[in-house]
Amino acid sequence: MIPPIARRFVAGETAAAAVDHARRLDDDGVGTILNLLGEHYDDRNPADDDTATYRELLADLGRTEFDACVSVKPSQLGLDVGESVFRENLGRVVDAAADHDRFVWVDMEDYTTTDATLDAFETQVERYPEMGLCLQANLRRTPDDLERLAALPGKVRLVKGAYEEPPDVAYTDKARIDEAYRELLEQAFRTFDGVVGVGSHDPEMLGLAADLQEEHDTDYEVQMLMGVREDTQRELAADGVPVYQYAPYGTRWLSYFYRRVIERKENALFALRAVVNG
Ligand SMILES: Cc1cc2nc3c(=O)[nH]c(=O)nc-3n(C[C@H](O)[C@H](O)[C@H](O)COP(=O)(O)OP(=O)(O)OC[C@H]3O[C@@H](n4cnc5c(N)ncnc54)[C@H](O)[C@@H]3O)c2cc1C
Repeated sequence: MIPPIARRFVAGETAAAAVDHARRLDDDGVGTILNLLGEHYDDRNPADDDTATYRELLADLGRTEFDACVSVKPSQLGLDVGESVFRENLGRVVDAAADHDRFVWVDMEDYTTTDATLDAFETQVERYPEMGLCLQANLRRTPDDLERLAALPGKVRLVKGAYEEPPDVAYTDKARIDEAYRELLEQAFRTFDGVVGVGSHDPEMLGLAADLQEEHDTDYEVQMLMGVREDTQRELAADGVPVYQYAPYGTRWLSYFYRRVIERKENALFALRAVVNG
């Protein structure tokens, strides 16, 4: 069972809990992006199992009216086992999404996976356009990848990047990553026909996105994590901005919860307060 302290960041252990969470967000006008926790499988069985779980979840979501979709990680669908395993499993998730009329996001992992992820995404989005891919501002290559995505159907989610990468492929300085993020937002709003996903909690970047939307008339949506700036998520939605909450669920919640706690002082204090107050 997930302890109360972790429930701020994780929607529950089961698909039923995840769907209930999405229903509650829908009441506040916030959409949901559900991610089954799991990554870096080095054998095929868990990757196939998670693929099957996503297919069942998509069928469950297809029976609801609210705006909820999934986001998958390449290494969860078997990329570490082999590119062909990942491509096959992604195709199976996309088939289920098409059957149940749901959107599929693909997360981006460390830089060694970028080419395989882009290639697999391109194959799938050409047959099912209700898809989106995450790109990371810390990678030096991303302006070129964004240009490639702008020529395809589907959405893009721009994030700053969560992985520690070597300096020859990535910016490592926070101010430089922020600058790259601003430049990518400008490029995306200027060149994208589809929707630009702004995957950030940063008030400066959210303000820039709103200005760029006025300037270019490009559709955008804000995406934030469960447990982070949830008041802002609701406020933006009430102001008419499309907002999606990325909500992880599943039994493998411990390492995800740990990452959230150590990434920011506020989260660590929240965890400490929860322990002290019982
Ligand atoms: C929906 C979503 C999907 C993502 N998918 C991926 C992915 O596929 N691949 C990947 O590499 N990364 C992914 N990320 C993570 C991302 O790369 C960043 O590591 C993460 O979002 C932190 O960057 P930030 O833009 O929020 O700003 P930061 O630079 O971390 O913070 C900037 C400002 O945002 C506000 N803020 C940030 N965090 C908090 C907080 N916890 N509480 C209160 N205020 C806060 C503060 O004002 C802060 O000064 C995803 C993030 C989101 C939101």
